[in-house]
Amino acid sequence: MDNKGKGNAMSISRTQLSAQLKALADSGYHSILPDQLYAYLHAGTPLPARPVMISFDDTRAEHFSIAAPLLQQYGFKGVFFVMTVPIGKPGYMTASQIKALSDMGHAIGAHTWDHPHAANIRSSDIETQFRNPRRHLENVTGRPVYYIAYPFGEWNDSVIRDVKLSGYKAAFQLTGKVSPGEPLYSIRRVMVNGNWSGARLQQELKTIFR
Ligand SMILES: [Zn+2]
Repeated sequence: MDNKGKGNAMSISRTQLSAQLKALADSGYHSILPDQLYAYLHAGTPLPARPVMISFDDTRAEHFSIAAPLLQQYGFKGVFFVMTVPIGKPGYMTASQIKALSDMGHAIGAHTWDHPHAANIRSSDIETQFRNPRRHLENVTGRPVYYIAYPFGEWNDSVIRDVKLSGYKAAFQLTGKVSPGEPLYSIRRVMVNGNWSGARLQQELKTIFR
């Protein structure tokens, strides 16, 4: 995310993000948080009309400086999946910014310590990649952290086991297959292209989440 440029699969300009959020707001979408999605998937608790979960991964400073004010402008709450290793480093959010997002009513989720590929995660990494980041973010926000997004959207059975053992109630991937046995630990998300118009975004959501 930046202030200029056309945007692509990995980044989006302020202007384009604003246009996409405006399109969602104008079309009557309601942002939901992971607790609501979990309650719906786990217990059938109803969701608001036209629910959408808006998430941001990787701890980027622009999530605080650009995305959060735009979410506020359109009346949305977002989910910020934070990898913990770069907190406070140049270009990344500080602990107090993460706390501020949480205090504004946004959700903070985990995104591992340093963003490993699933195939490289060993069972001995459970503390480093899953438990410590959860504790760290709970200390930062003063609130429980129950959700995680897999780096690169990658998961496998041992990663799901580690995530469950680490106390997460659900986990988010990208648009890969859903685990037949563990649907709550393979919830799908779509990567929004920074070039998409608001209309294109809605069209893609309908296609992907039919
Ligand atoms: Zn990531």
